[in-house]
Amino acid sequence: MNQKGSLIILSGFSGAGKGTVVKKLVKDYGYLISVSATTRKPREGEVDGVSYFFKTVDEFEHLIEEDGFIEYAQYVGNYYGTPKKYVEDQLEAGKNVILEIEVQGALNVKKQYPDALMIFITAPSVEELKARLEGRGTESQEVIEERMKRASEEVEEMTQYEYIVVNDIVEQCAADINSIVIAKHCELNQKLDFIEETRKGFANI
Ligand code: 5GP
Repeated sequence: MNQKGSLIILSGFSGAGKGTVVKKLVKDYGYLISVSATTRKPREGEVDGVSYFFKTVDEFEHLIEEDGFIEYAQYVGNYYGTPKKYVEDQLEAGKNVILEIEVQGALNVKKQYPDALMIFITAPSVEELKARLEGRGTESQEVIEERMKRASEEVEEMTQYEYIVVNDIVEQCAADINSIVIAKHCELNQKLDFIEETRKGFANI
């Protein structure tokens, strides 16, 4: 059966631990991650081409003009975008591809890929979220406050997602997401080719 891969949109509050969950999904379950482009400055330890493709505003705007993105959005003063070619090639090759993107980008992708899974990751509580953001130690107090403010707006937007997964224990959170993807693969409308083959199989017996 020639089933193409699934596109998995993962969003979540800044500090919910999305990055760690995504790493688990890649390492333990073989998912591919689409590396986004951004105009944000690299954080300590981030590697160009691995964490993000770090771009200047000019370079980013040039890519927009060239139609190089599936979607792009501005988040707390910087551009972020999903490169088109990598994602389309991998889906075509039957791979499951994760996009770790914010809400506007997620809604935009869903319009273009109606079969994409929209999953929102949260921390167990707002207190825990704030503690995780502060504990990360990579952002200034001002940026933390902006991100908390953005998160408070995202509470309204998260109702537009199909699944909400609480990231209390990373392993469990990754396992939950993998279960959602498996369920998607088993959906009737993902199996139409298989049904057709089965029908032909019976006709030939
Ligand atoms: P951070 O600066 O913490 O790495 O990311 C900030 C926000 O941008 C996160 O919510 C992250 O999911 C989102 N983001 C990362 N890459 C993309 C992208 O390609 N497109 C969109 N729309 N959002 C992205």
